[in-house]
Amino acid sequence: MSSSHSTPLRIRRDESEEGLTVQLSGEITEDARLDQVGPLEGRRILFDLSGVSRVNSCGVREWINFVKRIPAGADVRFTRLSPVMVGYLNLVANFLQGRKPLSFLAPYYCELCDRHVELLFEVGKEVSAASRKLPERRCPTCHGKLVLEEIETDFLAFLAD
Ligand SMILES: [Zn+2]
Repeated sequence: MSSSHSTPLRIRRDESEEGLTVQLSGEITEDARLDQVGPLEGRRILFDLSGVSRVNSCGVREWINFVKRIPAGADVRFTRLSPVMVGYLNLVANFLQGRKPLSFLAPYYCELCDRHVELLFEVGKEVSAASRKLPERRCPTCHGKLVLEEIETDFLAFLAD
């Protein structure tokens, strides 16, 4: 695991009247400067985690320490979790400090096009804790049936209360 292959974490902050949107992309490792997100209290913060491509074991520790700093009453939401982040959410207790993501990306494959696509699902809308099933999705190119590249019940385990 040479670090020369890693993509450093990029943190993009977008301030608006709605609050702060923080977009994370690349890899969460021991080098990730999560403190650059800035203060977490007293404001609305929306995390867009769709671009997180890898998390290593040191990165998991960094991330847990980061979410631990979120004050209990803070209006912080996690959206568009990449499949990698969903994997850790299913594996690591307190990965989001007990919070449920608003939405997440699921990895699909189209055999006809030999193509991988990630599709966005909203929690409580297209998929819920009760059903724990993803609705059928069609390939945007050939309209063939897409195959989920994960075991559905394992991938959606985080929805359970
Ligand atoms: Zn296709």
